[in-house]
Amino acid sequence: MPKKTVRCCRECNTPLGEGCKASAVFCGIPCKAKWNNRRKNRGADLYDLWMTMRYDRDEAKRLEVWKEMCRLSEGWRAEDVEQGIKSFERAGVVITRLKDTGRLARARPDRI
Ligand SMILES: [Zn+2]
Repeated sequence: MPKKTVRCCRECNTPLGEGCKASAVFCGIPCKAKWNNRRKNRGADLYDLWMTMRYDRDEAKRLEVWKEMCRLSEGWRAEDVEQGIKSFERAGVVITRLKDTGRLARARPDRI
């Protein structure tokens, strides 16, 4: 008999109850806030490092920004694994959300 998959809260891994919406990913508002705040704080630093990489190459090379971004990511990943929480949203989900909300242009047919 196939094992039934139990959906769990993305932040604390508490199994989501039978009555939860199919789209629910958190057990409650505190977990959703914790997840979003962690990503917001991490993302703010990465944003500036990324923009330096993209638009100030000399500075990025001098400071080894890519290497520092990798070190940050490794530290965050280790923390998340230790706590047993998911580190990130799948890229496909993020790109779909960005396109659906108009924050990322859909590729023109000639560029697909
Ligand atoms: Zn939770």
